[in-house]
Amino acid sequence: MRNFNYDIPTKILFGKNKVEEMMPEIKTFGSRLLLAYGGGSIKKNGLYDTLVTLFKKNDIFVVELSGIQPNPRISSVREGVRLCRAHKIDLILAVGGGSVIDACKAIAAGVNYKGDAWDFMIGKAQVENPLPIGTILTLAATGSEMNGGAVISNDETLDKRPMGHPSLRPKFSVLDPTYTFSVNKWQTGAGVTDIMSHIFELYYTTDKGVFVPDAMAEALMKTCLQYGLVAIDEPENYEARANLMWAGTLALNGMLSFGKLPGDWATHMIEHEISAIYDVTHGAGLAIIFPVWMEYVLDADNAWRFAQMARNVWGVSEKDDLTAARQGIEAVRDFFSRLGMPSRLSDLNIDGTHIAVMAKKACVYGDLGNIKKLKIDDVRSILEGAL
Ligand code: NAP
Ligand code: FE
Repeated sequence: MRNFNYDIPTKILFGKNKVEEMMPEIKTFGSRLLLAYGGGSIKKNGLYDTLVTLFKKNDIFVVELSGIQPNPRISSVREGVRLCRAHKIDLILAVGGGSVIDACKAIAAGVNYKGDAWDFMIGKAQVENPLPIGTILTLAATGSEMNGGAVISNDETLDKRPMGHPSLRPKFSVLDPTYTFSVNKWQTGAGVTDIMSHIFELYYTTDKGVFVPDAMAEALMKTCLQYGLVAIDEPENYEARANLMWAGTLALNGMLSFGKLPGDWATHMIEHEISAIYDVTHGAGLAIIFPVWMEYVLDADNAWRFAQMARNVWGVSEKDDLTAARQGIEAVRDFFSRLGMPSRLSDLNIDGTHIAVMAKKACVYGDLGNIKKLKIDDVRSILEGAL
């Protein structure tokens, strides 16, 4: 185990009707709120009306930023920064999935920064003195509700880039699983895939002797196996939605990397390039790339780690590590497909036209990955293998 500091400050309000306990959290920061949400799911499922009533009752001044798209755009971020400055906002409340929450983090960072918010995505600016944010999560997937990361798209340059800072971790997050009852089958499957992908990213390092984080990761993966298909078949199954929601949060709140290297992340970086150009659902892109990446990086030295997951999560009983590893990868591919996810880029009508550009951009800050370092040519091979 490597040295670490345990520090996860986001307060979680988990369970049915927990939104009723949110007002004291908001009032800690002030009474002027930016309410940010997406394309309207919160209006359809009644959450918006609940919030408006709550804010009226508590004399909260509210400015709205709506229409934040999946793969959130820098244009929404710029608009949010403008609104926060114009209305002297005290706190940003993100109500939605990872896209809304990520956009709000970039807005929070941008308000007290003199330049353009895209600077955070290109490493031109460091986050300093951001506005506080709180979240109400409506989709179990990204873990953004309890971490300091964000991923923002720029549709002028066709880039999708991450940013992050510990100070961007939400001050509080409301996790009411009933809000996810209205998530459709596709987004549910994509969300479960994203949760599993975060666990994979953190699991696949060269670390040895890290039993605690490995065992926690395996437990969260098993949670996805246990409940992923249930949530798709029975959208209002509270037990399934609740377990998936908490698994998604724990998968990427820092817990799984304590004592370890910070993870591999090559697959996420490759997927971001696909989303940047083709605007695909994040989880769907990951479902295609992860099994191909696994096959590509698997070798005799790291097979033990793949085999460990195959045995502990997928019930593989094979004694030989390489064979067990391959059986585990097939199990991953099969599960993603049962979640309704695509397995090839061609399933999303993506051909090889932009592969060279995607590979180059994915490596713009250097080689990718941890368990095996990937160069531009490796990324190109993985993308070609995914066609
Ligand atoms: P999302 O992009 O936030 O939302 C996808 C769709 O689901 C939207 O159309 C949204 O509709 C809908 N939706 C959300 N909640 C719903 C509900 N309760 N009922 C019905 N529909 C609902 O999905 P996401 O997977 O959570 O976020 C993906 C983004 O997060 C990607 O850009 C990805 O790169 C990023 N990401 C971030 C992190 C991180 O740590 N920060 C990690 C992984 C991925 P509405 O717009 O109408 O609400
Ligand atoms: Fe992700």
